[in-house]
Amino acid sequence: MIPSVLPTYSRAPLHFVKGEGSWLIEEDGRRFLDLGSGIAVAALGHAHPIIVEALTSQAQKLWHVSNLYEIPQQQALADKLVDATFADTVFFTNSGTESMELGVKMARKYWYEKGQPGRVEIISFTGAFHGRSSAAIAAAPTEKMVKGFGPLLPGFVQLPFGDMDALKAAVTDKTAAIIIEPIQGEGGINVVPDAMLQEIRKLCDDTGTLFIADEIQCGMGRTGRLFAHEWAGVTPDIMLVAKGIGGGFPLGAVLATEDAASGMVAGTHGSTYGGNPLGCAVGLAVVNAITEPGFLDEVNRKGALLRQKLEGLIAENPDVFTEVRGQGYMLGLKCKQPPVDVVKAAYEEELIVVPAADNVIRLLPALTLNEEEIAEAIERLDRTAKAVAAQG
Ligand SMILES: *Cc1c(COP(=O)(O)O)cnc(C)c1O
Repeated sequence: MIPSVLPTYSRAPLHFVKGEGSWLIEEDGRRFLDLGSGIAVAALGHAHPIIVEALTSQAQKLWHVSNLYEIPQQQALADKLVDATFADTVFFTNSGTESMELGVKMARKYWYEKGQPGRVEIISFTGAFHGRSSAAIAAAPTEKMVKGFGPLLPGFVQLPFGDMDALKAAVTDKTAAIIIEPIQGEGGINVVPDAMLQEIRKLCDDTGTLFIADEIQCGMGRTGRLFAHEWAGVTPDIMLVAKGIGGGFPLGAVLATEDAASGMVAGTHGSTYGGNPLGCAVGLAVVNAITEPGFLDEVNRKGALLRQKLEGLIAENPDVFTEVRGQGYMLGLKCKQPPVDVVKAAYEEELIVVPAADNVIRLLPALTLNEEEIAEAIERLDRTAKAVAAQG
């Protein structure tokens, strides 16, 4: 008999009933150190007083009105994001997938309005993940996501990760945009080198192609900059945001330059919930906290410390871990054993880590994870590694 919840997930038998900062409390009382943040969502940790206050005070006033009316919270959050980034304009969504949809639509509409309606192709890279809609799976067609779900939407081309020659050859008068995660998340914390992002920016400038950065996972302070592309000193034309921006409230955004967004006039796109007062009040509190002076310096300092300790952990446990990669608080540990086995062993040590492709476990802690908790994380990872090694 089919379960009452559609069985599309393989879930761990854990029932968390409460969260406090970087800690999750199980029904049975066990306290888990959370290095997953609900897949990079709980950017300020669980139940941070700042977002609890933003949510509850807005909840007592007004939740939703629809985009038929002006929404001051949405305006304030858009102004804040425009101030803090390359972008001139923002559209609010409720998830990463919806941000991806608009990114694709915006790029195609751009070329349509420029009188080049044939420029529809979106180029992506292997290892990418852009969401689960029909457009998003066409852009990142892994077998398990596309098999049986055809026909795939046309107009997507996928190239080998990091192959600049293939990319240069693939950009033609049919290309609308190149979409890239500056650090691939689901793909296994694959960092796109700064020089490559710069080269892609130049290729886009030379050919007019739009550069879409998918910063749904690597953005919102996770790498130690507000957005990961900032490390390379280049800016995209369109950027997809979600996950961390709501700190746990379903919120996403598409940020764009005035030029890239020029086709999106009244009536061309919309969302019932997107940018509602409740979500934007929380989003504003999250963005204000992350852009507070010194906050990202701390993420960089603590990220470097965690990384350094992970290097030590690898040296201690070479039969389990082989490599650490990533930036800030977006780190991956490459495993010799299947990452799901390591994740399960970590549960026994009351530690939450998240599997990814390429035999990697992801560490995506709350940006507020402190030094004491880093030390605790390393101890629990060390015990995890010893247990995995003992299993053979
Ligand atoms: C999670 C993720 C998405 C999809 O976001 P949803 O909110 O699950 O729809 C898209 N791109 C990247 C890089 C992601 O990490």
